[in-house]
Amino acid sequence: MSDQKLLGELVDIARAFAPYGKVADYIPALSNQNPDDLAICIYSIGNESYYAGDHLKKFTLQSISKVITLALVLMDNGEDEVFSKVGMEPTGDPFNSIAKLETNKPSKPLNPMINAGALAVTHMIKGDTVIEKWDRLIEFICHLTGQQVTYNEDVAYSELQTANLNRSLCYFMKQHGVITGNVEDLLVLYTKQCAVEMNCVDLAKMGAVFANDGLDPESGRQLITKDVARICKTFMVTCGMYNSSGEFAIKVGIPAKSGVSGGIMGSVPGKCGIGIFGPSLDEVGNSIAGTKLLEGLSAKYSWSIF
Ligand code: GLU
Repeated sequence: MSDQKLLGELVDIARAFAPYGKVADYIPALSNQNPDDLAICIYSIGNESYYAGDHLKKFTLQSISKVITLALVLMDNGEDEVFSKVGMEPTGDPFNSIAKLETNKPSKPLNPMINAGALAVTHMIKGDTVIEKWDRLIEFICHLTGQQVTYNEDVAYSELQTANLNRSLCYFMKQHGVITGNVEDLLVLYTKQCAVEMNCVDLAKMGAVFANDGLDPESGRQLITKDVARICKTFMVTCGMYNSSGEFAIKVGIPAKSGVSGGIMGSVPGKCGIGIFGPSLDEVGNSIAGTKLLEGLSAKYSWSIF
């Protein structure tokens, strides 16, 4: 059976799980997504791609953007600077929890994949103004995808209006010196970053760059240093799939990051990137059908890194 046909069959099997989850609605603009959508692209480091489902449908990155921002900020500032403000440990708490910010000493977010850590990382993007920082981030994403990517204004605005938990995380971190400056400016930048919009092919392409040690399979350019690509993939394994990162490591074993829009970016080291969109989420916030699809794929191709 061809890879293309097999992918179509795995998508049909996984789609049956979509009714057991639900679409995120705490960001109002995400609540009208179709729970039955499921699409995937696999982008090999040899620059070939296979897809199934509506692979050209666009969705917002949400938390997947945290990996991309981390890569940029690590290259901008270096490891020592970044990890003086954000830790390297999984939390076991929900992605938007404030609890450990208070109990962790010194007071800094435990890792860059939870909201507090991601806000601290976004704060470190180099640039004098929000516009300069945004321009650098979106240019980086355009290089990674090889496409003219932009963001969804409705989703960004909808999140900004309702981001009071993230607002409180920021004020807490400002009080403790993790971030400085204007909190609303940071939230504008962060919500735009989360609302960056693309399709599964673009997402799989970004995953392929990480899988290929930072080397772009299309242009041959080193877009991310090998070390930074390694650090990002490590965080994807330890904290990429919310509070089921441990179970996901056992059942799938692929470095991956999900977002509440239903996207998942996977990176199979030395092989391929994976982009999935399936907006029906399980109780921890991962695409329910997307996770099943990855389980099937990993078993079929022996992609677990363990
Ligand atoms: N923009 C979302 C938030 O900050 C991202 C959350 C996610 O995808 O996990 O709540």
